[in-house]
Amino acid sequence: MSSTPVQAARSELTGFTGELIGPDDTGYEEARSVYNAMADKRPALVARCADADAVARVIGFARAHSLPLAVRGGGHHGAGLGTVDGGVVADLSPLKDIQVDPEARTVRVGGGCVWGEVDQATHAHGLATPSGIVSTTGVGGLTLGGGLGHLTRRCGLAIDNLLEADIVLADGRRVRASADENSDLFWAIRGGGGNFGVVTSFVFRLHEISTVVAGPTFWPVEIGAEVLAAYRDFIPNASRELNGFFMFGCVPPAPPFPEELHLRKTAGVMWCYTGDDTEAAAREMAPLLDALPQPMLHAVGPMPHPVLQSMFDGLYPPGHQWYWRADFVDDIPDDAVELHAKFGAEVPTMQSTMHLYPIDGAAHDVGPEDTPWAYRGSRWASVFAGVDPDPANAELIKRWSVDYNEALHPYSAGGAYVNMMMDEGQERVRASYRGNYERLARIKADRDPDNVFRLNQNIQPAPKPSHEARP
Ligand code: FAD
Repeated sequence: MSSTPVQAARSELTGFTGELIGPDDTGYEEARSVYNAMADKRPALVARCADADAVARVIGFARAHSLPLAVRGGGHHGAGLGTVDGGVVADLSPLKDIQVDPEARTVRVGGGCVWGEVDQATHAHGLATPSGIVSTTGVGGLTLGGGLGHLTRRCGLAIDNLLEADIVLADGRRVRASADENSDLFWAIRGGGGNFGVVTSFVFRLHEISTVVAGPTFWPVEIGAEVLAAYRDFIPNASRELNGFFMFGCVPPAPPFPEELHLRKTAGVMWCYTGDDTEAAAREMAPLLDALPQPMLHAVGPMPHPVLQSMFDGLYPPGHQWYWRADFVDDIPDDAVELHAKFGAEVPTMQSTMHLYPIDGAAHDVGPEDTPWAYRGSRWASVFAGVDPDPANAELIKRWSVDYNEALHPYSAGGAYVNMMMDEGQERVRASYRGNYERLARIKADRDPDNVFRLNQNIQPAPKPSHEARP
């Protein structure tokens, strides 16, 4: 290419519906950045795609010029998968269309939406679909990797509520995937990440969830082992209406938290009871609260579902340093509890945290081979997240996250949730899909044989079967 990629794109992609942004353009700094400031990359071209045709043309452009292609939904992946040095970013952020069908209880969502936009639209009808715990996370990446959050125990993972997807394939063809159409692809995208194509629109099932009873309970970190052991014994027996993820972290130094608790290290549970009956919620939480000493804070009350969904947004704005590790966990023996308590008491910065997200309840209704998400028998997804605004602390938070994970990994089920892993290599990706990897690799070979979509937790195309020697 004698011209730069952005010059070539401007001359070749005439009538492109969207924006083509190169390193010399105003707005490039903003266009190149993703959520994790550690992923500080400089693409040659950021193509903001306003429709599926634009997506297909950008894929074709990247292929024609042998440029690596990153596909960006919300840009939240910890490994910075939504950007690439010297390559092309297909930025889906203009794909914002949201259509709620309250009768059918479905929502159609553009591939570049973030969850807060969806939550607001569905809440207007008293409805919700499972997503995560931060409203700025992209629908695209979260869903394609699985999607766990406050509604997991009641409604399952995001993929368990996915009904249909419109996809642009590596060769530019546009297809629909559902249980009845391109069912191989529909299976693969429910956990297999962005390996198979670019999803320009998703259709999700909606649930009658409007007000929830939610908020945190915090105990002093000094009794972290006692709190975790009690939580471990409690949550698997709680009803599906109650979700509660365990956390080690710090009390944020801001309202509504009382000043005397600011920055106190804590072992806590973040609750979500899916209903508006505060007494019923209290009854559900009581066995855990009764089993433990008085908490230092129990700030649980009724709130609209989107308020809960955005509760962490202020604490975790974009542009901070992130390093995280993850595992799936079947059980938490006492030895593991002690190790958790040790590392939990050593959180290195105010935003660094360890979460144990329950993945039982409705998520266990789906079999391990029904979708690529293989760990349906596990009870928790753990994440060890080192977070801080200051790049000078990058090594500190990484060290804590890695050391913590390495200490606990021997107690894990083997693989990890692909949405909460860094770039940790093929063996780790394989372990995360267990026996489903081979089927994913065959579908990949069929749908993306040249591995155009490789900036993800990559599934390598299965080798073509070697032909038998002819007689
Ligand atoms: P991106 O970085 O844009 O994309 C991630 C991957 O998905 C890339 O490989 C990209 O190519 C691909 N992709 C994105 N959109 C599309 C699309 N439309 N078509 C094809 N491929 C696409 N996860 C949870 O499950 N639950 C949580 O509660 C949760 N909380 C989080 C909170 C924070 C603050 C952060 C940073 C992450 C959180 N995550 C959570 C993890 C999150 O699911 C992943 O980071 C996810 O990949 C983010 O999706 P994205 O579209 O924002 O990311």
